[in-house]
Parts: sequence; C-alpha cells; structure tokens
Amino acid sequence: MSALSRPEFHSEEAAFSHLEWLIWGDAPVCPHCGGLDRITKVKANPEKRIRVGLWRCGDCKKQFTVKVGTVLEHMRLPLHKALQAVYLVTSSKKGISAHQLHRTLEITYKSAWFLLHRIREAMRSDDVTPFGSNGGVVEVDETFIGRKKGLPKKRAFHHKMKVLALVDRESGKARTMVIDDVKAETLMPLVIENVEREARVMTDEHSGYRDAGKWFAAHGTTSHGKGEYVNLEDRSIHSNTVEGYFSIFKRGMKGVYQHCGEGHLHRYLAEFEFRYNNREKLGFNDADRAVTALKGIIGKRLTYETAPQAA
Ligand SMILES: [Zn+2]
Repeated sequence: MSALSRPEFHSEEAAFSHLEWLIWGDAPVCPHCGGLDRITKVKANPEKRIRVGLWRCGDCKKQFTVKVGTVLEHMRLPLHKALQAVYLVTSSKKGISAHQLHRTLEITYKSAWFLLHRIREAMRSDDVTPFGSNGGVVEVDETFIGRKKGLPKKRAFHHKMKVLALVDRESGKARTMVIDDVKAETLMPLVIENVEREARVMTDEHSGYRDAGKWFAAHGTTSHGKGEYVNLEDRSIHSNTVEGYFSIFKRGMKGVYQHCGEGHLHRYLAEFEFRYNNREKLGFNDADRAVTALKGIIGKRLTYETAPQAA
C-alpha cells in the first residue's frame, strides 16, 4: 500500500465519488437551479458516450457533474489523474513542476501546466480576517523576485516583481500579495486592511512603514542595514519569521519554477501560502492538505489568456 494506492487515484468512478463526498456530502445539489430533491444518477455508458459522474436534475431537467462551477469544470483530463496531481502538489514541500507532473502522470506538458494552475487557484485562500487580534504580533516585509517583462536588468530592484507578506506570529499563518511598488501609499493601505488596530507590527527600517506606529498599538523595527536582526532590549522585536517565509518561497521558486511571469505570480504565491498555512507544525498532514485543496475548487473559475511558453 502507498498513499497513492487509494481507489480515487485509479478509478474514475471512485474519483467522482470522492469529490462528490467532499463537496456535497450525501446530498448532491444541482448547480443549474439549486435543486436538491429530484436528483438522480445517470448510469455511465461508454457506448452511448455517457460519462462517469453524471447526474440529472428532475426540476430543471439538466445534467451536471460535481465539476460544474469549480476550477476543474472544463478540464478534459480524467479526474483520477487530477486527484493524483492535487496529492503530489500538496504533499511535496516545494511543489512540483509542470515537467515533472507531465512525466509522472503521463499527460502532455500543456495539460500539466493548466492543471497546476487550476490546483493553485483551488489553493488560493479567500480568508480576509485581519491578523494580530488581541494585541498579537504581525510581521510585515516585502521582497523582490524575478524580472518584469520588458524591463532591462538593473542593479536596484525596479525591474523586479514585488511581493508583500504578513505573518501572524500567534497563529503561524502567512498572507502574501503581489504589489506594484514599495511606496508607503501602496504598502500602508494593505497593512491597515489586513492587520487589527490592537496588533503590534514588526518591520525592518524601510521608510514605507514609517507611519505604522500611528495605526497600530505598537510598531517595532530592526535596522537590517546596520546588521540588526533582533532588538536586544526587547527580543520580540524582529521580523525573522516573515524573512524565513520569503526564504522558503525563494528557494522553491528557484528550484522548481524557473520562469514565472508577473501575470502568474499571484498563483505561485497562493501555492506557497497554502502549503505554509497548512503545514505539519500547525497540525496538518498530507491527506488533510489534499482535502482542503479539493474543497477549495468550489466557486472559483479560471480563464486563461496565456498558454504555456515552453514545451
Ligand atoms: Zn436543476
């Protein structure tokens, strides 16, 4: 036995039952009319081209599968392969590349690429609860990664993509977002939106956070430029947790995802954030992570303008 020997990873029938159970429990819902009462299973029949996982609603007479209205809706791959992919992505520490997925699942590179982005979308958190309630500590920092398309490489960071991260030290959770620049006018509204007033906010000496003390219970800074990483008088003043978060993110981005365009950066952020917020230390195991990601496929749709660059 291995984690991947479970039936939902091999049989299409079992894959649909698994997803139906996660999303509907034991009461299928018609995605077209919301009907609950007159839903019947349509028996799969390859000769008549009737697919596995099909249901019919007696109220609106329409047919549907559990994939309707989710990020997997227009996916042509067998569902059991998609479930394998979700398991691999959510159980590997640094994620998995489209090339690796293409080889392991024996699907085309293009299918693997699209599937990975669907899974990332499913991993995207829509939790907007502010961090740092009850006077907790929130660390805030920004980082630069890759290069913006069309901009020449310079010594400073203008040509790079920018990311803001917040870490709630009490809950151990992170929240990340792509930002256009690192000016106070850009940074502070995001910090104010995502952090409770009673929180203590920790940043480095970057001038963009200069006014944080006016908005929050306290603002502690360390001066990285002067080699200070923790305040020696008050050792709770540091931003080492969020720095650690960025180092995991950057190592992952370097090793697995060689090229990442700005248009896709938010999806990679969602993936790393998901893995971090559902990590072992917070009590989540591989199976929990796969289930959480699958539940996240609901209510999110994906449209693509950009196809994969490399083959
Ligand atoms: Zn219906």
